[in-house]
Amino acid sequence: MSGTGRPAIVMDRDGTVCEEVGYVNHVSRVRLLPRSAAAIRAAREAGFATVLVTNQAGVARGYFDESLVHRVHERLRRLLAAEGAAVDAIYHCPHHPEAGEPPYRKDCDCRKPRPGMILRARDDLSLDLSRSYTIGDSMRDVEAGRRAGTATVLVMTGYGRGELEHRSGSWKMRPDHVAEDLMDAVAWILAREREEAPR
Ligand SMILES: [Mg+2]
Ligand SMILES: [Zn+2]
Repeated sequence: MSGTGRPAIVMDRDGTVCEEVGYVNHVSRVRLLPRSAAAIRAAREAGFATVLVTNQAGVARGYFDESLVHRVHERLRRLLAAEGAAVDAIYHCPHHPEAGEPPYRKDCDCRKPRPGMILRARDDLSLDLSRSYTIGDSMRDVEAGRRAGTATVLVMTGYGRGELEHRSGSWKMRPDHVAEDLMDAVAWILAREREEAPR
Protein backbone atom coordinates (compact mmCIF):
# COMPACT_ATOMS: atom_id res chain seq x y z
CA MET A 1 0.00 0.00 0.00
CA SER A 2 1.36 3.40 -0.93
CA GLY A 3 1.16 6.37 1.36
CA THR A 4 1.40 9.99 0.36
CA GLY A 5 5.03 10.64 1.32
CA ARG A 6 8.14 10.74 -0.81
CA PRO A 7 10.10 7.61 -1.60
CA ALA A 8 13.66 7.55 -0.27
CA ILE A 9 16.90 5.77 -0.85
CA VAL A 10 18.40 5.12 2.58
CA MET A 11 22.11 4.41 2.56
CA ASP A 12 24.61 3.10 5.04
CA ARG A 13 27.67 5.35 5.31
CA ASP A 14 30.86 3.31 5.82
CA GLY A 15 31.49 0.68 3.16
CA THR A 16 28.53 1.86 1.09
CA VAL A 17 28.85 5.60 0.37
CA CYS A 18 32.33 6.01 1.90
CA GLU A 19 35.33 3.75 2.08
CA GLU A 20 35.29 1.28 4.96
CA VAL A 21 38.39 2.26 6.95
CA GLY A 22 37.49 0.94 10.40
CA TYR A 23 36.53 3.63 12.87
CA VAL A 24 36.45 7.09 11.28
CA ASN A 25 38.19 8.81 14.17
CA HIS A 26 39.48 11.80 12.19
CA VAL A 27 37.84 13.89 9.48
CA SER A 28 40.72 13.15 7.10
CA ARG A 29 39.65 9.48 7.04
CA VAL A 30 36.38 10.22 5.21
CA ARG A 31 36.63 9.28 1.56
CA LEU A 32 33.82 8.79 -0.91
CA LEU A 33 33.81 5.59 -2.90
CA PRO A 34 34.41 6.40 -6.59
CA ARG A 35 30.82 6.41 -7.91
CA SER A 36 28.94 7.43 -4.76
CA ALA A 37 28.35 11.08 -5.66
CA ALA A 38 27.09 10.16 -9.14
CA ALA A 39 24.78 7.53 -7.65
CA ILE A 40 23.31 9.98 -5.13
CA ARG A 41 22.87 12.57 -7.87
CA ALA A 42 20.99 10.04 -10.00
CA ALA A 43 18.76 9.08 -7.06
CA ARG A 44 17.82 12.70 -6.43
CA GLU A 45 17.20 13.41 -10.10
CA ALA A 46 14.77 10.49 -10.10
CA GLY A 47 12.84 12.08 -7.23
CA PHE A 48 14.13 10.10 -4.27
CA ALA A 49 14.95 11.66 -0.93
CA THR A 50 18.49 10.61 0.02
CA VAL A 51 19.25 9.65 3.61
CA LEU A 52 22.33 8.28 5.34
CA VAL A 53 22.07 6.13 8.47
CA THR A 54 25.22 5.08 10.31
CA ASN A 55 26.06 3.17 13.48
CA GLN A 56 28.84 5.04 15.28
CA ALA A 57 29.44 2.97 18.39
CA GLY A 58 32.95 4.43 18.51
CA VAL A 59 31.28 7.22 20.50
CA ALA A 60 29.98 4.81 23.16
CA ARG A 61 33.33 3.01 23.16
CA GLY A 62 35.14 6.29 23.83
CA TYR A 63 37.20 6.17 20.61
CA PHE A 64 35.99 9.64 19.57
CA ASP A 65 33.31 12.01 20.69
CA GLU A 66 30.04 12.86 19.10
CA SER A 67 31.24 16.26 17.86
CA LEU A 68 33.69 14.42 15.60
CA VAL A 69 30.78 12.58 14.00
CA HIS A 70 29.22 15.95 13.18
CA ARG A 71 32.49 17.26 11.72
CA VAL A 72 32.88 14.10 9.64
CA HIS A 73 29.39 14.64 8.26
CA GLU A 74 30.12 18.28 7.43
CA ARG A 75 33.14 17.13 5.46
CA LEU A 76 31.14 14.38 3.79
CA ARG A 77 28.54 16.94 2.71
CA ARG A 78 31.30 19.14 1.27
CA LEU A 79 32.80 16.20 -0.64
CA LEU A 80 29.38 15.40 -2.09
CA ALA A 81 28.67 19.04 -2.94
CA ALA A 82 31.98 19.26 -4.81
CA GLU A 83 30.57 16.59 -7.12
CA GLY A 84 27.10 18.15 -7.38
CA ALA A 85 25.45 15.75 -4.93
CA ALA A 86 23.71 16.15 -1.58
CA VAL A 87 21.81 14.15 1.00
CA ASP A 88 18.60 15.29 2.67
CA ALA A 89 19.55 14.00 6.10
CA ILE A 90 22.20 12.04 7.98
CA TYR A 91 21.38 10.07 11.14
CA HIS A 92 23.90 8.40 13.40
CA CYS A 93 23.56 6.06 16.36
CA PRO A 94 26.27 6.80 18.96
CA HIS A 95 25.12 4.02 21.28
CA HIS A 96 26.25 0.55 22.21
CA PRO A 97 24.25 -1.82 24.41
CA GLU A 98 27.25 -2.88 26.54
CA ALA A 99 30.22 -0.57 25.94
CA GLY A 100 31.05 2.69 27.67
CA GLU A 101 28.88 4.67 30.05
CA PRO A 102 25.38 6.11 29.90
CA PRO A 103 23.93 7.95 28.07
CA TYR A 104 25.84 6.25 25.24
CA ARG A 105 25.69 2.79 26.79
CA LYS A 106 22.11 2.14 25.92
CA ASP A 107 19.94 -0.57 24.42
CA CYS A 108 18.61 1.99 21.96
CA ASP A 109 16.14 1.61 19.13
CA CYS A 110 18.42 3.29 16.56
CA ARG A 111 21.40 0.93 16.35
CA LYS A 112 21.04 -1.11 13.17
CA PRO A 113 19.71 -3.80 12.70
CA ARG A 114 16.96 -1.93 14.53
CA PRO A 115 15.04 0.41 12.27
CA GLY A 116 14.89 3.51 14.51
CA MET A 117 16.96 5.85 12.34
CA ILE A 118 14.93 5.01 9.25
CA LEU A 119 11.67 5.53 11.12
CA ARG A 120 12.93 8.88 12.35
CA ALA A 121 13.78 9.86 8.77
CA ARG A 122 10.27 8.84 7.74
CA ASP A 123 8.78 11.19 10.33
CA ASP A 124 11.18 14.07 9.69
CA LEU A 125 11.02 13.95 5.88
CA SER A 126 7.48 12.55 5.35
CA LEU A 127 8.76 9.46 3.60
CA ASP A 128 6.71 6.62 2.17
CA LEU A 129 8.83 3.68 3.29
CA SER A 130 6.75 1.19 1.30
CA ARG A 131 8.17 2.81 -1.85
CA SER A 132 11.67 3.24 -0.40
CA TYR A 133 14.94 1.30 -0.51
CA THR A 134 17.75 0.65 1.93
CA ILE A 135 21.27 0.00 0.62
CA GLY A 136 24.16 -1.27 2.73
CA ASP A 137 27.26 -3.47 2.85
CA SER A 138 26.16 -5.38 5.93
CA MET A 139 23.21 -7.61 6.72
CA ARG A 140 22.38 -5.36 9.65
CA ASP A 141 21.63 -2.64 7.09
CA VAL A 142 19.45 -5.08 5.16
CA GLU A 143 17.68 -6.16 8.34
CA ALA A 144 17.05 -2.56 9.44
CA GLY A 145 15.68 -1.72 6.01
CA ARG A 146 13.44 -4.74 5.98
CA ARG A 147 12.13 -4.02 9.48
CA ALA A 148 11.36 -0.45 8.39
CA GLY A 149 9.35 -1.77 5.46
CA THR A 150 11.71 -0.84 2.62
CA ALA A 151 13.14 -2.98 -0.16
CA THR A 152 16.82 -3.79 0.38
CA VAL A 153 20.06 -4.01 -1.59
CA LEU A 154 23.37 -5.44 -0.38
CA VAL A 155 26.44 -3.92 -2.06
CA MET A 156 29.76 -5.71 -2.58
CA THR A 157 31.88 -2.75 -1.43
CA GLY A 158 33.03 -2.52 2.20
CA TYR A 159 32.15 -5.71 4.08
CA GLY A 160 29.57 -6.73 1.47
CA ARG A 161 31.55 -9.33 -0.40
CA GLY A 162 32.56 -11.02 2.85
CA GLU A 163 28.91 -11.01 3.96
CA LEU A 164 27.89 -12.76 0.76
CA GLU A 165 30.79 -15.19 0.39
CA HIS A 166 31.37 -16.22 3.99
CA ARG A 167 28.23 -15.49 5.97
CA SER A 168 25.24 -15.99 3.68
CA GLY A 169 24.75 -19.53 5.03
CA SER A 170 23.54 -18.06 8.30
CA TRP A 171 21.48 -15.17 6.93
CA LYS A 172 18.04 -14.88 8.49
CA MET A 173 16.76 -13.08 5.40
CA ARG A 174 17.96 -12.24 1.93
CA PRO A 175 18.32 -8.81 0.37
CA ASP A 176 16.00 -8.09 -2.55
CA HIS A 177 19.06 -7.52 -4.71
CA VAL A 178 22.86 -7.77 -4.61
CA ALA A 179 24.79 -5.00 -6.43
CA GLU A 180 28.46 -4.32 -7.07
CA ASP A 181 28.36 -0.84 -5.59
CA LEU A 182 26.06 2.07 -4.77
CA MET A 183 25.80 3.12 -8.42
CA ASP A 184 24.77 -0.37 -9.51
CA ALA A 185 22.27 -0.48 -6.66
CA VAL A 186 20.70 2.84 -7.70
CA ALA A 187 20.65 1.77 -11.36
CA TRP A 188 18.78 -1.42 -10.37
CA ILE A 189 16.29 0.63 -8.35
CA LEU A 190 15.67 3.08 -11.20
CA ALA A 191 15.21 0.26 -13.72
CA ARG A 192 12.78 -1.49 -11.36
CA GLU A 193 10.82 1.73 -10.90
CA ARG A 194 10.52 2.19 -14.66
CA GLU A 195 9.11 -1.33 -15.02
CA GLU A 196 6.41 -0.78 -12.45
CA ALA A 197 3.05 0.75 -13.21
CA PRO A 198 3.06 4.54 -13.25
CA ARG A 199 2.32 6.04 -9.86
MG1 LIG B 1 28.76 -0.34 6.40
ZN1 LIG C 1 21.27 4.29 19.07
